[in-house]
Order: sequence, then C-alpha cells, then structure tokens
Amino acid sequence: MKPFIYNSLPGRVVFGTGTLKTLAAELEELNCRRAFVLCGAQQASKGAALLAQLGPLAAGLFSEASMHTPVEITDRAMLRVRETKSDCLVALGGGSTIGLGKALALRTDLPQIAVPTTYAGSEATPILGQTELGRKTIQRTLKVLPEVIIYDVALTLTLPPKQAVASGMNAIAHAIEALYTNDINPMIEAIAQLGIAALARALPSIVQNPRNEAARADALYGAWTCGVCLATGRMALHHQLCHILGGSFRLPHAETHAVMLAHAVAYNAQAAPDAMVQIARALGVDNAAQGLYDLAQNIGAPMTLAEIGMREGDLSRAAELAVATPYWNPRPIDKAGALALLSDAYYGRRPATPIGD
Ligand code: NAD
Repeated sequence: MKPFIYNSLPGRVVFGTGTLKTLAAELEELNCRRAFVLCGAQQASKGAALLAQLGPLAAGLFSEASMHTPVEITDRAMLRVRETKSDCLVALGGGSTIGLGKALALRTDLPQIAVPTTYAGSEATPILGQTELGRKTIQRTLKVLPEVIIYDVALTLTLPPKQAVASGMNAIAHAIEALYTNDINPMIEAIAQLGIAALARALPSIVQNPRNEAARADALYGAWTCGVCLATGRMALHHQLCHILGGSFRLPHAETHAVMLAHAVAYNAQAAPDAMVQIARALGVDNAAQGLYDLAQNIGAPMTLAEIGMREGDLSRAAELAVATPYWNPRPIDKAGALALLSDAYYGRRPATPIGD
C-alpha cells in the first residue's frame, strides 16, 4: 500500500426515514434554544411547518435561499439572524439552502443543523461557494461544516425525478474527482466507489418510481458518501468548469454537473487509468466516461450545455477562465483542450473509445 494522509472531519449524522422528528432533541444536544430556519422560496411551506413543529425552539424563518449563495441574500438573512437573536441555524433544503446556512455560520460562528433534501452533498463538506458580482469564489474552512446532518429519506420523496437525476449526477461527480486526485487515500477510495455504486443503482429505480423508498434511501446514502469525498478530496477540472459555468454564465448547478461529467472524465481518462478502473467497476461498465454518459442518458438527465442555457459564443470565454485560474488536474489544462471538452458537452457528443481500448 502506498503511504497516505487522511483527515477525518467532525460531525454527527442521523440517517433514516422520519428522522426530522429528532430535530428538537438534536437542538437540545447542542444546547440551542432559538433556531433560525432557512429554506428556499419553493419550500417555504415546509419551512413554515418546521417552524410550527419546533414551537418555542424556533426564532425565525428565512425562505429566500438561492442558487450559488449570492452575497446580497446572505446580507439580508444576516439582518434577520441578528434581529431574532437566534442561537443556531437549521437549513432545510438542497445545496442552495445549506450554502446559505454555511455563509451565515461563517459570519456568526453559530452551530448548524443541515437537513438535506437533494443529493448535492454540501452538508458533509467544509466548503462554501459564494457569488458576488458574477463571480463564484470557493473557500474551505471548518467554520462552515455543519455540526449535525439529519438525513430524512421521507423528505426526498418529493424531489422530482428530473431534479433527482441531475442532483445524483452532481453527487457522483464528487466521488469521481476524489478518485483521481493526487492525494487519494484508501478510505476515500472505498467510500467513493460505494457512493458511485449506490447512486448508479438508485437513480434508474427513482425514475421508474419516484416514491420507491428503498431507492431513495440508497440515493441519499450515496449523496452522503459522495459528499464525504468532496469534503476531504481535492476537486479538479470538472468542478472547476462547473463553477465557471454556474458562477459566470448562470447555468443551473446540478444540471451542469450532469452534462459535464462524462466529458471531464473522458478528458482525464488517459492521465488517470487507476481511477478509470475504479469508476468503471463501481458503475458496472467497461469504460468510465462512456458508462457515465450512458447512465445520464438512461435516466433522462440533461445531455447538452445548449439545453440548459449556455450560448455557443460563450464557450471560448469559459475556456479562457478555466486556463486563467486552473485547478490541479491529472491532465494539464490548455485553452484548446478546455474548449474541445466544452464543445463536446455543448453538443452532448458521446465520448469516443480511446485507441487501444
Ligand atoms: P437547490 O438547493 O437549488 O434545489 C433545487 C430545487 O429543488 C429548488 O427549487 C428546491 O426548492 C427544490 N427541492 C429541493 N429539495 C426538494 C424536495 N425534496 N422536493 C421538492 N423540491 C425540492 O439545488 P442543489 O443542486 O441541491 O444545490 C445547488 C447549490 O448547492 C449550488 O449553489 C452549489 O454551488 C451548492 N453546492 C455546494 C456544495 C459544497 O460542498 N459547498 C456541494 C454541492 C452543491
């Protein structure tokens, strides 16, 4: 076995169906009495119901969480946190809501309980992405890592299949990029393959029957394990391009991941052969990039950047941004390579079989 370094992160995970009912007990455990509940506009009624469930333990509700954590929304939420003298943050929703909770925790040091309702995995990471003046910036700090995660499978049953598949591909991307970083360790290698396999198994069943509780549990477990990979591993070209496309071109987060993943993996295939074997094994296929493409297509995920709002004329600018601030990547990034990858994703071309395969 090669030498390795593994950093484990603190955090408590409560997983099951109906686990939201443990929220009051979890607040008590944290010694909190004034919970500030966060959610997005579409989940405002669920936020209000949670406020009612908490009764005297609830201090306020803010239902304006928005994708890519715009700083101006955090500013508004911050005023309400102060006014209500809240002593903790409860984020109920997808990565957007959890991102807002993290941004508030960064400013206040308040403890957080995350209640994820998508598969984005943000709840498991010490990473915060924020958007200001059209640019997304990413930081890692333990200050934003939620103290408690409550995974309640019942809350995910309403996530429409279209969003579930995109979100699931977003989760798989975390595990995949962790597998081809240069600081991989055996723990993350094992967890990443568990996560990829769980989601690849669960997503087709969710598409067939969105209320399949066993598949929803599998997917949520996959979301957590893939989130753990994102938390400790270094992310590479795929995440970089998705951050650029989301932050500077306002493409939807999970859908962008779903479109880009097979192409980023194809770009890195020859530079990261061991990771390709592990990804393919977890997916139960021969070729990692093609297997991801086929999975996305079979579950009805978006397949082209064109259909999720990218303009062809902006591809060159996106490639320039990728080259201007490159992330570490198994295969070096140059403008021509980034542009070719983005163009394949724009048109949704199936990755070619490498010569010699
Ligand atoms: P999201 O949170 O914006 O949710 C997408 C949509 O799904 C919203 O309209 C929401 O109301 C709806 N929704 C969520 N759960 C639902 C449910 N159970 N039933 C019905 N509708 C539901 O999208 P997302 O993809 O989960 O998160 C994207 C954001 O998360 C981005 O800002 C991204 O940058 C961030 N993110 C951060 C990390 C990190 O580690 N920092 C990781 C992944 C994603």
